Amino acid sequence: MATTTLPNTEIMETKPTETKSASTKYVYFFGGGKADGNGKMKDVLGGKGAGLAEMTNAGLPVPPGFTIQTEACREYMRHNAVSKEVNREMEEALAKLESLQGQKLGKGENPLLVSVRSGAKFSMPGMMDTILNLGLNDQSVEALAKRANNPRFAYDSYRRLIQMFGNVVLDIEKPVFDEIFDAKKKQKKTKFDTGLDAKALQEVIAEYKKAVKKHAKRDFPQDAIEQLVLARDAVFRSWNNDRAKSYRRINNIDDMLGTAVNVQAMVFGNLGDTSGTGVGFTRNPASGAKEFYGEFLMNAQGEDVVSGVRTPVPIFELEKIMPDVYTQLRDITTRLETHYKDMQDFEFTIQDRKLYMLQTRNGKRTGLAAVRLALQMVEEGLIKKEEAIFRVEPSQVLDFLLQRLDEKDVKPGDVLSSRGLPASPGAAAGQIVFTADQAVEKAGHGATKNPVILVRKETTPEDIDGMEIAAAILTSQGGMTSHAAVVTRGMGKPCVAGAGDISVDERKQEVRVEGKTLKEGDWITVDGWTGRVLSGKKKLLPPDPGDLEKLREFMGWVEPYRTMKVRANADIPRDAKKAREFGAEGIGLCRTEHMFFGEQKIPHMRAMILADNEKDRRKALKKLLPMQRKDFEGVFEAMDGFPVTIRTLDPPLHEFLPSREELMVNIATLSSMGAKEKKELVAKYKDYGAKAAGDLKKLLPDLLKRVEQLHEFNPMLGHRGCRLGITYPEITEMQARAIFEAAVAVAKDGVKVYPEVMIPLTATLNEMANQAAIVNRVAKEVFKEKGRTVEYMVGTMIELPRAALVADEIAKEAQFFSFGTNDLTQTTWGFSRDDVNKILPTYLADGIIKQDPFAVLDREGVGQLVKMATERGRKTRPTLKVGICGEHGGEPSSVEFCYQTGLNYVSCSPFRVLTARLAAAQAAAGEKLQIDAGRTK
Ligand code: PEP
Ligand code: MG
Repeated sequence: MATTTLPNTEIMETKPTETKSASTKYVYFFGGGKADGNGKMKDVLGGKGAGLAEMTNAGLPVPPGFTIQTEACREYMRHNAVSKEVNREMEEALAKLESLQGQKLGKGENPLLVSVRSGAKFSMPGMMDTILNLGLNDQSVEALAKRANNPRFAYDSYRRLIQMFGNVVLDIEKPVFDEIFDAKKKQKKTKFDTGLDAKALQEVIAEYKKAVKKHAKRDFPQDAIEQLVLARDAVFRSWNNDRAKSYRRINNIDDMLGTAVNVQAMVFGNLGDTSGTGVGFTRNPASGAKEFYGEFLMNAQGEDVVSGVRTPVPIFELEKIMPDVYTQLRDITTRLETHYKDMQDFEFTIQDRKLYMLQTRNGKRTGLAAVRLALQMVEEGLIKKEEAIFRVEPSQVLDFLLQRLDEKDVKPGDVLSSRGLPASPGAAAGQIVFTADQAVEKAGHGATKNPVILVRKETTPEDIDGMEIAAAILTSQGGMTSHAAVVTRGMGKPCVAGAGDISVDERKQEVRVEGKTLKEGDWITVDGWTGRVLSGKKKLLPPDPGDLEKLREFMGWVEPYRTMKVRANADIPRDAKKAREFGAEGIGLCRTEHMFFGEQKIPHMRAMILADNEKDRRKALKKLLPMQRKDFEGVFEAMDGFPVTIRTLDPPLHEFLPSREELMVNIATLSSMGAKEKKELVAKYKDYGAKAAGDLKKLLPDLLKRVEQLHEFNPMLGHRGCRLGITYPEITEMQARAIFEAAVAVAKDGVKVYPEVMIPLTATLNEMANQAAIVNRVAKEVFKEKGRTVEYMVGTMIELPRAALVADEIAKEAQFFSFGTNDLTQTTWGFSRDDVNKILPTYLADGIIKQDPFAVLDREGVGQLVKMATERGRKTRPTLKVGICGEHGGEPSSVEFCYQTGLNYVSCSPFRVLTARLAAAQAAAGEKLQIDAGRTK
């Protein structure tokens, strides 16, 4: 999270204070060219507050105000209220603001109005709440109308306040206000908000106030201070709303950080045609191109631009409308970029031709842009290479592996729309869903198996869970900085936004385009590189080699720092080859059971399992031997010159057989079956020896008997791993033979081969010794038979807490350890890895645990076992090679932990190899250069 936006100014940051001290300063003022805080204080002031302070100190035109620091939010979370001191300091700051402005909050002929906005350390776009125009009431609205000489503007601002305040502070659902507003538009026969005049807006205000009374059982507060206090507390509460919690979980942000609240004098972009508001980036955040980039709207307030309600205008158009303001904006943002040494994401408002800066921060970007910007800025001399290497998040390299549309597969009639904006790159095909809930329901946990495209008019922060699971997002409204665009870019998934020629009817659950109507479940393809939407499931192509070239250049800077090796988990030659392309330095886990599921192998595997004596078992294993040897040869060849860790059989044998229930049903219904059904059943059981219908009568009960023998209540804790190899030593024998015969065969052809035979799920030295003895004996036999030897090792997986505890003993026999953190997490937590999702969502939502321990290595618990086992193992065997091959091996924070713990390598799926390489290099570079890569928070 932090590395993409890490300017060197952030390195010195202090950690948030856990408890307040007597000298805690709660409120930081900014205005009049001077601020109490500065840009380094993100922990205290949040990103927005720190940016406002820094810009004020730099003499930029920033409306004055004050920031209530994050400790007040933490205090609010603990006690459901802030301390008196917070109120006292806030009153003091308000008095200072009033005196600087020569205005009083919500009072007098020229009333002061303020905005109240959230602002956490890490930007969480749209997740928390904001209130604008605070200070307006029945009196001050009249004063504003007079002063601005624009009653319509004043009433519009007031109705917006009641609406925002009603929703955010008083918890009244948005549609309550929308219905009143839409009814008024209908009554006045206008489609647009601007079609309502001052009188109509006064009527809206009266009805809004009635709605407040009805739903909140209180009047809309007329006292401006009361408004301020209530708004501040509501913003604090919004830190813990569901969408903010989801966002933090997805982005790995600590729940305890809290948000700051920024109270700032209002400037108005909706004061008429000489006012406006916009957002922008100093460079293109999607492609990384060096171009001024953004959008604005004249006569509008900030929310109008980002919410996607009106489609904004490209920023360069501002040059035609107000050349002076445009030049000033370019000048200021260039200065900001030079100051922060990073691409800036800024917000501005023009009030009556005067420019105000409302925010600046390091902009979020795609992986593609992150790499390009890092290269560009080093070339420009803006940053050093040492800083640049932290500007790319390890997971962002996935962007370089993203799919593109195969243009050869696109016929003109396929294009439903080409008017959308290419908001986030990548291409995906999927079935249409219209709501976030439908997305979650339909995609389930097989999001890649069952891809869905979330189609909305515009997305809102409530959609976060659906967006997370969807393969791509399509919206008919909104621009490049809309919610959908910003969030998907961060997620690295394709998005087409603002496809204006598409009409999305969310109520009827239909998309209408080009005279066609599409429904839920229809397939479409979304091209986030160009902004096109196509009907059907189009062919997709792997990424552009030109982009990969840039990534290669960037990796060339980072890689020299890396000391820990990165391997891949691969079971078949094709995956092994892919892994080598991504730079894997060997295979850390080859799961041999996957090799047994092949069509030719499964009958022999089943025969082996069904055998009730050693002789028959050996007969079946003999058939498997040449097939397994061939698989190993392929993997060794692909990994020429690199080690290959092959694990002996791990899963419980019943996984290869039909289920008990299925057999029972077949047996019970057999006698009443017709000829056709019996024929189907014979085909189904042909691998078990069924040749004709007559065979079934004996075969099925025999099969059931064996299945029942193998049945276990807790298979994950049962007859699996080395326990199989110990009870059926001939299995380990056959596998060892296949490994060594393959190794010798490819070595003869000049392939450099280093097999590492890995015994799964050991808990004792004796288990290890038992299996190592078999492997060593077979190796000797094969080497003698073939007249050739190869170097090899025998080691174990550490997947059980007991193994970690007695690692010093196990290391007497094991020449290497590989942490199977999937099972080690399962056995340490006592969470079933297959069923944990029944518990996990609640645990995460309630903050009982911060992260899914199966995704991010639990440093506190499982990590302790990893550390201890490594130390104990190396005490016995100082040269012990130690790695990790659980899913955590490709997750950046876990990779960093592995580096810090002194592991020799991490191993992960081929597509995560690049991510792991970058994470491992950043971890080493961070240590060397003393820069916190930010993953330990
Ligand atoms: C593990 O347990 O971490 C591991 C890699 O093995 P598997 O996932 O095959 O159980
Ligand atoms: Mg395992």
